[in-house]
Amino acid sequence: MYFVKTASKKQHVSTVKATPFDPTATAARFSAAARDAGFRVEQYGKIDGFPLIALTKRAPGLRPRIYMSAGMHGDEPAPPLTLLTLLETGFFDDRATWFICPILNPTGLVRGTRENATGLDLNRDFLEVRANETRAHIDWLQRQPPFHLTLCIHEDWESTGYYLYELNPHQRPSLAEPILEAVRACCPIDEAPVIDGRTTAAPGIIRPIDDPLLRETWPEAIYLRAHHTTISYTLESPSAFPLEYRIAAHRAAITSATTRLIHDLGKKSAYPPPSRP
Ligand SMILES: [Zn+2]
Repeated sequence: MYFVKTASKKQHVSTVKATPFDPTATAARFSAAARDAGFRVEQYGKIDGFPLIALTKRAPGLRPRIYMSAGMHGDEPAPPLTLLTLLETGFFDDRATWFICPILNPTGLVRGTRENATGLDLNRDFLEVRANETRAHIDWLQRQPPFHLTLCIHEDWESTGYYLYELNPHQRPSLAEPILEAVRACCPIDEAPVIDGRTTAAPGIIRPIDDPLLRETWPEAIYLRAHHTTISYTLESPSAFPLEYRIAAHRAAITSATTRLIHDLGKKSAYPPPSRP
């Protein structure tokens, strides 16, 4: 075990602590790897001296626009580390135009806590925005074109396997099954009928109420679904598993989701061009 679980994430104040993570060093590593891979590195904000960075790489011609975020919860190290691994191994090629926010909550990551340093859960902050991190993140998102796919990458301290949330209001071809099929090769899927308080639509798949008007708090995915994308996944690896398993699982999920989306978009008009709803 890499981590000690001491409380449920459902409590308002989290006492779960992961091994502290160095956001400044990680941001520097992301920036160097991103520049080597042809990305533009943008610092869109600063929190307690830590940089908030976004990486963008525009492919020539018309390509799917794919957004990924990680590091929203500071006790979830696998998502940023997965993106760093993908970046350092040349994953982000010219098949798509990429938009990456890899370290959304540096003050949570440095403390190993779900919330930021002021105790806010940033993934409940997208309707009545209170955190400076969220404000800067939204300002950055509003400067980007609409996305064909968004992936919000997370971990879950309570799950017994990998699972995902799907927001697919326009009934685009679902990527959920291909994602879980790819993950299954390296990590069990959470087969529980109820995960995180929600009844699953199929093993490992949650299709939550996706109408933003019916949601009292907005996680990032609901905000993205309302303003920036037509299909969205939140990917959750099980924190109880060793870190390398979780990174492998996320890597498989991201590879599968992007490959399938790019394939589907290449076929006639499975997806019309995205527009801002
Ligand atoms: Zn999370």
